[in-house]
Amino acid sequence: MTSLIKKCFEKCNLKVSEKQINDLSMLASLTLEKNQLLNLTSINDEENFVDKMIVDSALLLLNIDLNQKFVLDLGTGAGFPGLVLAILSPNTKFVLLDSTTKKINHIQEVIQKIGLNNVETVSARAEEYIDVNREKFDLVVARAVKELTILLEIAVPFVKNGGSFVAYKGQNYLDEINKSKRAIKLLNCSFVQAAPYTLPISNEIRYYLIFYKTASTDLKYPRQYSKIIHKPL
Ligand code: SAH
Repeated sequence: MTSLIKKCFEKCNLKVSEKQINDLSMLASLTLEKNQLLNLTSINDEENFVDKMIVDSALLLLNIDLNQKFVLDLGTGAGFPGLVLAILSPNTKFVLLDSTTKKINHIQEVIQKIGLNNVETVSARAEEYIDVNREKFDLVVARAVKELTILLEIAVPFVKNGGSFVAYKGQNYLDEINKSKRAIKLLNCSFVQAAPYTLPISNEIRYYLIFYKTASTDLKYPRQYSKIIHKPL
């Protein structure tokens, strides 16, 4: 798997060390192995995993400098994009948050096996974790978590004033942006850009939606989860 990962990163012009390639390869093997037992992701074969999980998570680094930042991966699942970004950005501190304890336990095992020292994990719902972590992060990232309107309400309150939120999205991002106009305004952020990127094996085109936080978010957000879901902003 290491040669496949190396080739993919070369194709995408992203510089990675031999050690980082080995760590990413270990992450892929450990996740695929555990997947049979825990149902961590629907992607089961090495090529697709490298393309759609590892490289997809990493390509954010072509656009955004994470150096010295404090980053939250909201709804990290089995650790994506958080673990990939943590391997590639050793000077950046990460919190990986998910409400599913079995996934967080798996991530803990992976962190220990790889020997990462810049990652903390939290098993909680975002609407609970916000209590003592409001506006603490320079950057919040989220991949494959809910529709954009809902995601913005749970994610933006964690971002510092002047910080950013990045959502990894597919082809129909424009539709989601249009539906989220009101939420963007109410949460005091602005939509900066949709940065396109191409996956190296499947050639699929995906987008990072980048939001900038312009002012503090009103303490009434996020609302209770049932309200967020049933009455999106
Ligand atoms: N980011 C991962 C996982 C996506 S699945 C990936 O790209 O592979 C969505 C994850 O979000 C699930 O693991 C789910 O448990 C988590 N999640 C959804 N709503 C959440 C919330 N309100 N608080 C914390 N985690 C949440």
